[in-house]
Amino acid sequence: MSRFPNAKSLVVKLADFPSFLESDLGLNIRWAADRESGKCLCPLHGDSDPSFGLKNYDDGWGFNCFGCNSKGTVVEFFMHYYGMEHDEAVASVAERFEINIEGLSVIQETIKAPIKTGGESFNMKKLTEFHAQAATQCRLIMRKRPGDGAIRRWIEEAFERMDDCIENCDAEGMEKIYLEASKWNT
Ligand SMILES: [Zn+2]
Repeated sequence: MSRFPNAKSLVVKLADFPSFLESDLGLNIRWAADRESGKCLCPLHGDSDPSFGLKNYDDGWGFNCFGCNSKGTVVEFFMHYYGMEHDEAVASVAERFEINIEGLSVIQETIKAPIKTGGESFNMKKLTEFHAQAATQCRLIMRKRPGDGAIRRWIEEAFERMDDCIENCDAEGMEKIYLEASKWNT
């Protein structure tokens, strides 16, 4: 069992895999008109005619190479390309795309009770996602405005409110914090 059971689906959903291929690996993606799918040279084998297909699914970007038959998500790509183990790849993708996966296990522990008593797993998913995004936004704010006392106090308070939302399984409250944090970044 992986150390990061839900972290993988979160990073796959939030990571902008195409921008990584373009800006980090310098690949040239030939996009379909709707930009929901594209093709480029495969970085995993000596490719001369683009055989690496990309597609935007509901749960994130996937790839499929008709040349070397490798396929998967950005996590499998990191595993192949960098020779990483699964958990290491999940952590690297999270770091590269500034996705917060810390605290996921805490949330899963805390919300076990509401699920058993009829709460929906949908709520848990939302709570987990908004928490990760709110925390990521807060880190961005701190990086942009270091030494700003008012911001620091707001963030400290936001983290306290996030803890309350986790305790109460309050996905809506968490979304509100995420939206407020996003405003500081616009
Ligand atoms: Zn390939």
